Amino acid sequence: MASARTYWNPFLETLPPEKLAALQLKKFQRALAYAYTHSPFYRQKLGRAGIQPEEIRSYEDILKIPTTTKSELQAAQTESDSIYGSLCCLPSEEIAVYHQTSGTTGHPIRQADSRRDWEWWAECWATLLWAQGFRPPDRMIIPFSYGVFVAFWAGHYACEKIGCEVIPAGGLSSEARIDKMRELKASAIMCTPTYALHLAEVAKTMSLDPVNDLHIEKIVCAGEPGALIPATKVRIESEWGASVFDHAGATEAGAWGFECIAQSGGLHVNEAFFLVELLDPETKQPVLPDEEGELVITPLDREAQPVIRFELRDRALWSKELCSCGRSYRLLDGGLRGRSDQLVKVRGVLFSPTTVESVVRQFDNLGNEYQVIVEREHELDKVTVQVELLSGGDSDRMHTELEQQLRIATGLRCHVELKPLGTLPRYEVKAKRFIDRREHDE
Ligand SMILES: [Zn+2]
Repeated sequence: MASARTYWNPFLETLPPEKLAALQLKKFQRALAYAYTHSPFYRQKLGRAGIQPEEIRSYEDILKIPTTTKSELQAAQTESDSIYGSLCCLPSEEIAVYHQTSGTTGHPIRQADSRRDWEWWAECWATLLWAQGFRPPDRMIIPFSYGVFVAFWAGHYACEKIGCEVIPAGGLSSEARIDKMRELKASAIMCTPTYALHLAEVAKTMSLDPVNDLHIEKIVCAGEPGALIPATKVRIESEWGASVFDHAGATEAGAWGFECIAQSGGLHVNEAFFLVELLDPETKQPVLPDEEGELVITPLDREAQPVIRFELRDRALWSKELCSCGRSYRLLDGGLRGRSDQLVKVRGVLFSPTTVESVVRQFDNLGNEYQVIVEREHELDKVTVQVELLSGGDSDRMHTELEQQLRIATGLRCHVELKPLGTLPRYEVKAKRFIDRREHDE
């Protein structure tokens, strides 16, 4: 029998910071030269900026390279007759697999990956699952039809790579998935935080207690943020009696961040595979160590459709501490802190819908779903938060308490509507809980 491989790479994962930075610079230079040579999009973009790859000799030089936005990638594909547009670096016979972004902000990006890219995706995911303590013989159920979404496919292959059995549970109702989970004694789940909560709710409608009847030990969340919002994490953990781990990734960039088994309240950046910068959104300069910035990422090893300095639009803050797990990969304190394009102005106040989530999920007698609606009433913005009240709750008291807590957290008066359990929409992937009905004329 072949000896089991581990996916803990002590050489890379504990490299001293200066050696890690030197490795990143070397790999960045290689990725840039490759994109310049093979990607018509980057040859043109760098040409316009007057940059030759060999001029980039230091970390500081990297700042001279213009960042890449999602709309640039969209335009490079929609303006072309070819499937991947000017972004693709390889002839079509070398493309192994197609995926696409969810298209929540505009036209989806079509993502080409070669066989080597696909190995790399699985390697990134194997690293993160291993760091979260997934090991053979864990049996992972993935309760989705993954379709064209890359994260779950990559997670699926990574499970196989590290020796965890996979149960691909797409094409089933939520009830049938719960039955499968029981029948096959699944020990772990990979899904969105939203769906983890929903599945627990479904199990209860089947007169099952998720903790005592289903025995799930670990849950890895993908597809949307939430698993690091403390109130949501606590809620998923208590619903399932399982440890919940977050991961961060993007189709255009890769699976770049993960929470490790030490659960120190942050996301590690897989720095041997990715260069992550936190920039001021206006000046595009690095933020100070104690400031929140917008994430700009470069995957360092991608070949079919690479991106250089891609704007993720997520906001984050570097942690001052190193993780107790022993990795030298830096941590983003508290994980992702919302997306810049989801910050909205309401009555002149910057408002993040995820703040509502952190309040709602603290109440035991509220259901897992919520919806935030902003509309204009008599020239004023009105915020309505709809939540589901579990049976037996005192609705008057709940109403007052929730309004107070929302006011403290958001600085805004929010109108609360309590709904019967099961009446708000449910989501499997990419929950759309924020609805802005105002005219966008500002
Ligand atoms: Zn760690």
